[in-house]
Amino acid sequence: MNTIAEGIQALKKAKRLVFFTGAGISADSGIPTYRDPLKGLWKKHDPSLLETSKAFRENPALVWGWYLWRREQWGLAQPSCGHLAINRFSEMGFDVSVVTQNIDDLHERAGPQQVVHLHGSLAKPKCFACHRPADLSAKQAAIADDAALLEPPRCPRCNGKLRPDVVWFEEKLPIDIWKKAMALVKSCDVLFSVGTSGIVMPAADIPAIALASGATVIHVNIADVSLGNPNELMLIGRAADMLPHLLSSL
Ligand SMILES: [Zn+2]
Repeated sequence: MNTIAEGIQALKKAKRLVFFTGAGISADSGIPTYRDPLKGLWKKHDPSLLETSKAFRENPALVWGWYLWRREQWGLAQPSCGHLAINRFSEMGFDVSVVTQNIDDLHERAGPQQVVHLHGSLAKPKCFACHRPADLSAKQAAIADDAALLEPPRCPRCNGKLRPDVVWFEEKLPIDIWKKAMALVKSCDVLFSVGTSGIVMPAADIPAIALASGATVIHVNIADVSLGNPNELMLIGRAADMLPHLLSSL
């Protein structure tokens, strides 16, 4: 039996699906991964040096400018065939949840499934001081093409500086978000692990946790990332090709 046929057999017995997604699925929408070189204004910057609380303390205008620029770039991207295929699974009657490492909103824009953002989201900023979420006006969210330095707006409650509501390097995942993800991962029948590099901890443990809880894990990745468990299937290719292919065979 080939891998697609085995995947279909697992799906025929399944009700609850979790799609655990990483940078690979957003790359299909044209969003660069951190391994791709940056272009234009940000060419000489290293994201790992911009996304820390130390960088924000030292140069809030640079970190805020980077956040607004990414937010704008990602707003221009469209959900890929992979994002849309996930939505098709829920339309077919599966109970679908998404647990993503991505901070874009492409899953939400592809359809109305439940999305848990392990590393936060670019959608809204929060206050650096009091951590409350804040809204941005259209004027505050707009950036000029050549502006890298933008002073962050102030929190309406405590006058602290606003920062992106994402998990920066050296920050811990929010415990309530992690618990929510664990509840979904431990109770699913099939976990799809899609376009994740498997190196960012603790999120990288998620396929192993699903296997230990009795789920079948279907990896969709351009490289073989399987862990050698008999309940694992490896589909090698882009999510934008493999997920629609699997759907069409169901
Ligand atoms: Zn505040």
